[in-house]
Amino acid sequence: MKKATAAKKSLTKREKLIQKIRKQLIEQKAKLVAEAEATRGELPDEGNHPDPGDQASAESDRNFMLRLRNREYKLIRKIDETITIIDNGEYGICEDCGEEIDARRLEARPVATFCIECKTRQEENEKLG
Ligand SMILES: [Zn+2]
Repeated sequence: MKKATAAKKSLTKREKLIQKIRKQLIEQKAKLVAEAEATRGELPDEGNHPDPGDQASAESDRNFMLRLRNREYKLIRKIDETITIIDNGEYGICEDCGEEIDARRLEARPVATFCIECKTRQEENEKLG
């Protein structure tokens, strides 16, 4: 029989923050999924518009909804990825320089994968390019 180790691992401040973020992400995802479900039946159908004007406007409504949904799906996927990263214990590490991402940045933008320095540098490069 194994002897249970008495030393209880207490979470650091950062680990607590990450757990809080994980919970928030799960809630946010549930909300997004519920919204996506709610709009499922609302897509205007493609046929049944004898007037070409109606057809055009239905078409643009539909495109709008699809774009919106596409963005939601991307966000849901991003949230899933982030939760996986948290579970792997790799959360909050900049993908570029490997440094810890500032806790305040993570709180403001939980799906951030770059530290503020790398992100700023990337954005400047984009402007130059
Ligand atoms: Zn970095």
